[in-house]
Amino acid sequence: MTEEVRVRYAPSPTGFPHVGNIRTALFNWLFARSCGGKFIVRIEDTDVARTVPGAVENILDSLKWLGIDWDEGPEVGGDYGPYFQSQRLDIYQAIAKDLVAKGYAYYCHCSSERLAEMRAAQEAAHLPPGYDRHCRDLGLGDAPGAVIRLKVPDSGTTTFHDLIRGDITFENRLLDDMVLLKSDGYPTYHLANVIDDHLMHITHVMRAEEWISSTPRHIMLYNALGFEPPKFAHMPMILGPDHSKLSKRHGSVSLTEYREQGYLPETMINFLSLLGWSYDDKTEIMTSEEIQQRFSIERINPTSAVFDKNKLDWMNGVYIRQLSEDELVDKVMPVLEKNLPESVKRPIDRDYVRKVMPLMHERLKTLQESALPETTWFFFTDDISYDAKLLPDKKLGPEGTLDMLKTVLPKLEALEDFTAEPLEALLRPLAAELGLKAGQVFAPIRTAVSGLTATPPLFGMMEVLGKDKCIRRIREAIKILENEL
Ligand code: GLU
Repeated sequence: MTEEVRVRYAPSPTGFPHVGNIRTALFNWLFARSCGGKFIVRIEDTDVARTVPGAVENILDSLKWLGIDWDEGPEVGGDYGPYFQSQRLDIYQAIAKDLVAKGYAYYCHCSSERLAEMRAAQEAAHLPPGYDRHCRDLGLGDAPGAVIRLKVPDSGTTTFHDLIRGDITFENRLLDDMVLLKSDGYPTYHLANVIDDHLMHITHVMRAEEWISSTPRHIMLYNALGFEPPKFAHMPMILGPDHSKLSKRHGSVSLTEYREQGYLPETMINFLSLLGWSYDDKTEIMTSEEIQQRFSIERINPTSAVFDKNKLDWMNGVYIRQLSEDELVDKVMPVLEKNLPESVKRPIDRDYVRKVMPLMHERLKTLQESALPETTWFFFTDDISYDAKLLPDKKLGPEGTLDMLKTVLPKLEALEDFTAEPLEALLRPLAAELGLKAGQVFAPIRTAVSGLTATPPLFGMMEVLGKDKCIRRIREAIKILENEL
């Protein structure tokens, strides 16, 4: 029987997870789900000084939003808990001491002053930085301020096999005797990570590329501990459009900020899954279920993936258009409640939103766009304000436009059925009658009723706005033009 796959996502709560970090969670989860394995969440909260309040909640919230469920970890427990490293300190301490007793590790009493001097001397001599092993053979015991370091072999090489990149070899002499247990009794990342991966029966460690250089250290630790190392797969880096590492500079934000900006979880799952993995080089749109079935480590590409914001927007548009009208309304209601101007009466009228949104559906790239001054405010507010210069048609000029609007107004007032079709049936021939192009009539009316020059289709929009509002706004436009002249 083949061993059950057990993978983990091991975030440190030192900030709100950004897309790269969540991509790591996603790939682990997809791998587990693709082969009936277990997905474990472990919180690596041993760096107390860098722990950010609310980060754990944000991490779990991000996963839940995407529908990434975990079989063991915070909130759900499991057989190998606790799943917070800060609650496992006694385990790390006992194992570190045991390594000392067995001769694989040693107490180091070097003061921070001594270490600083050592570093300065190394720098001056252009030597690679690293602990000079001063205490390695002194046989020191525990003492206040002492740390435990691993005895790293000073010659030879360490090789590990990466499932995505093949064999990777490191020169041992380039690695120093790393700290395993700090003087405050907290483990370093290396110690806690290796112990927990072992005790939690992790079979595959899938993590970001930046951890490759830590892996030989981990292999040494596994060897010292007499543990079988798991399999390793280091995922490709995510780059910004300028091919430097994706960062805040590229507008990369925490996952929950994407939620706030109106991206759908379906989009994020699909988009993130394609950052370094592909199904067949051409399929772009896939549901979470499809990706779970199709995912394989073999198709993770070792070369860096580029985060293409335009593609994200395009994909979100695709998923928004897949929503039914009612689903879309459900999703935009809170966005409108939050973002429409205060002058709009609360609660926002859902029935009215249900009329507005079909006009917007095709055009939205994010939910956020459903509630911007330049997209929908004019549907909801009583007063619109705009630059008078936007009104006149270029050829007609203010005067000609004024005449045109004055001709159109009574006809609109007389129109009983103020819906899209009769509106079009009235205005199109009217333009011809006046010897004008359709756009010369439509564009000033569009601006008059919306205050904008780009809007959803004119007649549907006028129908939703309603006769009263349209007539009132065209009268206002006439006044504006009269004042201009
Ligand atoms: N706590 C580490 C991180 O936040 C885990 C790295 C690993 O997966 O080994 O990235």
